Amino acid sequence: MIALTASRLYTPLEAIEQPVVLLEGSRIVAVSSRTTRPLPEGVQRVDFSDSILAPGYLDIHIHGGAGHDVMEADPAALPAVEQLLAKHGVTSYLPTTVTAPGDHILSALDRLATAIENAERDPASLGRRAQPVGIHLEGPFISFERRGVHPPQDLRPPTLPVFERFWQASRGRIRMMTLAPELEGARAVIAEAVRCGVCVSLGHSDANLHHTQAAVEAGARHATHTFNGMRPLGHREPGIIAAVLTDSRLSADIIADGIHLHPTIVELFLKMKGPESAVLITDATAATGMPDGRYRLGWFEVEVKNGVCMAEGALAGSVLTMDRAVRNVTKFAGWGLQPALRLATLNPAKVVGLSSRGKLEAGAEADIVVLSPDGEVRTTFIRGVRMEAAAGR
Ligand SMILES: [Zn+2]
Repeated sequence: MIALTASRLYTPLEAIEQPVVLLEGSRIVAVSSRTTRPLPEGVQRVDFSDSILAPGYLDIHIHGGAGHDVMEADPAALPAVEQLLAKHGVTSYLPTTVTAPGDHILSALDRLATAIENAERDPASLGRRAQPVGIHLEGPFISFERRGVHPPQDLRPPTLPVFERFWQASRGRIRMMTLAPELEGARAVIAEAVRCGVCVSLGHSDANLHHTQAAVEAGARHATHTFNGMRPLGHREPGIIAAVLTDSRLSADIIADGIHLHPTIVELFLKMKGPESAVLITDATAATGMPDGRYRLGWFEVEVKNGVCMAEGALAGSVLTMDRAVRNVTKFAGWGLQPALRLATLNPAKVVGLSSRGKLEAGAEADIVVLSPDGEVRTTFIRGVRMEAAAGR
């Protein structure tokens, strides 16, 4: 048995001083404080002195990294992305598709389902890599006006038969779907996806207040990269953004890179959604962890200059990593590390229905990130296996 010790631990709902986490194989056996319970005898102690222990991060919106896109057929693609994620503290993630010709989406869903099934059957085969735990289908059921860089020719109206084909191709592994609720047919598809256990998220949308409220009535429960790819907020025309910010039934995520949203908008968002329903995503592309240059996003190309990822004059995903997103929340909004961590751990796990992830407690997966007091990743444990952190971004 291994005992990890450090200066503080965030479960993340509770803070524990002088923590001890006992690991047996890939599981956490106990979480306690050395002030109340001495270290058991015969354990191998690994001490992280002034570090903070937190649950491994869960990124529910990621397209790629390390030069690879999650829709690529290349068998080296997912392992490269997953290694990069682990270096930045992410221990599980939802590979996220973009709008593409139907057969391209279907084959990507099939490949991603296989990767998820293999990881479930034999988690040890992943070694020091983040685990894919479900698919996020982003597009093609999105708004032409708010499509961002999604290719317009491949957008489609939501219909039950098309959803059914995606669902079959993913063998039930779609955990999240971003859709524009104002599109004709959206309500029926929302209801069916919710029945299948999918978290329906509103995004890339030109919806007004009424459309958004109707989608929530139909079962939608989340919003995707709030403000980005949405009808702008108007003071006499509240639209989707006002609905997302004020409706307590909806959780919502943001890209807190300081590029997609002004830091003050990040602060506004966090004040509105609070530590209970705000979620951080990266929306990271293949360019993440790579030098400036040209990279692939699904079936098109993006260009990265000075860390800004663009295609045809519009922002095209990011090169953000989750550890930086967490630190940005502390900088942009003055939040402490504890509530900021919740936005990358417990909250996304709840959104996509993964009840054993995103928290440190007995019985949970030994997915642990070891942080400096200001939130830099020092080490990550994935299923009890230690991984060193990446240098720099
Ligand atoms: Zn995206």
